[in-house]
Amino acid sequence: MQPELAAARGEYAHARRRLSQRLSEAGIRDGRVLEAFEHVPRHRLVPEALWAQAYKDTPLPIGERQTISAPSVVAAMTQALQLRGGESVLEIGTGSGYQAAILSRLAGRIISIERIPRLAARARSALDALGVANVIVYLGDGTQGWPQQAPYDRVVVTAGGPEIPASLLSQLAVGGVLVGPFGQREEQSLVRARRTSETGFTREVLGRCQFVDLIGEGGWAA
Ligand code: SAH
Repeated sequence: MQPELAAARGEYAHARRRLSQRLSEAGIRDGRVLEAFEHVPRHRLVPEALWAQAYKDTPLPIGERQTISAPSVVAAMTQALQLRGGESVLEIGTGSGYQAAILSRLAGRIISIERIPRLAARARSALDALGVANVIVYLGDGTQGWPQQAPYDRVVVTAGGPEIPASLLSQLAVGGVLVGPFGQREEQSLVRARRTSETGFTREVLGRCQFVDLIGEGGWAA
């Protein structure tokens, strides 16, 4: 194991175990999701000045006026994706890389798109330092998806948009699931959409939430 990775795993191990227990008490039932939260060192994906805050259940600033969601929100979205292992997942909004690192333990391959170059570069180097090898970070407007590698078994949108971008639905495999926040700029519904056939989709609302803006062609104007 790389020395930096070994150090990251040792740091805050107790706080991580408690976080995973709290998520369980708060209703996260998927044991694989809880295990991922126990293992991914969230502190290594936020600025060092915030390391001591990293295992509280709060959003944290990651620069460029963006935030990493609270662990309970990341956990609820991850559980809603119903991953069994081996899936190909498209994530919109790499941000810190934390959600991608969680997904990397639960699925086969993650394509993650970020529109802000500095965040994409920082997330990439943080993921490399943690030895995460099955996440590809691309720079671009994620509302257009990433057609080159479609279809995806799962799509997770981690910024809030007015509606589910049509490109993302079209890149979802039949039987696939998309989870993300859609609605008003100030507050959104956490939506789960399922592609039941070439042309058929179902949708359910899982709760209310507040995310930073999804900006781009299929989102809000910058
Ligand atoms: N999943 C991230 C959450 C980051 S916040 C994490 O675990 O840290 C949402 C991110 O979405 C921000 O970094 C923002 O820059 C990015 N974003 C917003 N609109 C986007 C778009 N159209 N394409 C790609 N990324 C976008």
